[in-house]
Amino acid sequence: MSIIHRKVLIIGSGPAGLTAGIYTSRAQLQPLLVEGEPSSTSDQPGGQLMLTTEVENFPGFPNQVQGPELMLAMREQAKHFGTEIITAKITRVDLSGPPHRLWVGDPDAPEPTYTADAVIVSTGAQALMLGIDAEWDLMGRGVSTCATCDGFFFRGRDVAVVGGGDSAMEEALFLARMAGSVTVIHRRDELRASKIMAERAMEHPKIKFMWNTVVEDLVGDETLEAVKLRDLTTDAVSTVPMAGFFVAIGHRPNTDLFLGQLATDDDGYIETVADGTRTSVEGVFACGDVQDETYRQAITAAGSGCMAAIDAERWLETRGE
Ligand code: NAP
Repeated sequence: MSIIHRKVLIIGSGPAGLTAGIYTSRAQLQPLLVEGEPSSTSDQPGGQLMLTTEVENFPGFPNQVQGPELMLAMREQAKHFGTEIITAKITRVDLSGPPHRLWVGDPDAPEPTYTADAVIVSTGAQALMLGIDAEWDLMGRGVSTCATCDGFFFRGRDVAVVGGGDSAMEEALFLARMAGSVTVIHRRDELRASKIMAERAMEHPKIKFMWNTVVEDLVGDETLEAVKLRDLTTDAVSTVPMAGFFVAIGHRPNTDLFLGQLATDDDGYIETVADGTRTSVEGVFACGDVQDETYRQAITAAGSGCMAAIDAERWLETRGE
């Protein structure tokens, strides 16, 4: 099979990748976007928004929009301007170019499937989950991995946050502004969070802590109704009514493909230059949650997708392409 060459190849189909597709296709760069494949957590590519229901904080939708609907609209928009989208997984990359080499299918094949001058990496990140089936059954229906996104839906209600790190404290403090009560469920009797965040959460009148406690199950048919907990010191099991359950036990960037080739930080996020999306490798740009441990929002991902497209376009121009 002959190798297909593209000026721009985008990996990933969340808001960052699709926005990069919109911009690079409007710049007449005929991008190819490899969108990924259905996974155990989603039957369609499109990133974390495919797992959410109502989205109320993406500008332009005063009456809210469903996460999958928003992603399908972005996908259509990218296609409309000429982004070619294929449903496949990149299985191996060789970023010693440009041109860079990328494989779909057999990673041991001697020749790559594609070569590309510019590669835009927008493979996202995933929230770590507890591993309970009900987490996925009730995702977007009481279960969430993002308080900034979903906290508003739980105004005046009782919610729980699981985790003992800075993310859990941040989520709890954010939720305490609007929820009726916030219960932090932590498996140990000591927080991992920084002292300042821990103190802030512990001093908050609306936040209480359940120590040495693990979540055994989530209860609810249509929406979450209660959380089943086990106290590790007494082994007692209790079922606590809860309208919202926020999983805040960390995130993992989807960077396995690039390890050893692109510089990453201690947590595995791709490092980009301070004011742009250039990575440690010439012609490779990164955008969205794969390089953003701080904001992790659809709108910031889309914004950095735009930046990656413009950075790639200007870089190609300097090469006379
Ligand atoms: P983290 O520091 O790794 O903390 C994860 C927490 O979840 C830990 O308390 C851990 O318990 C718990 N946990 C992990 N797996 C679990 C499981 N299966 N069941 C129950 N609990 C589980 O992750 P993070 O809080 O997302 O923070 C990641 C990094 O980002 C950190 O460096 C953090 O400082 C930084 N961050 C900073 C800020 C800020 O400064 N504003 C905000 C967010 C994140 P154990 O403690 O028992 O291991």
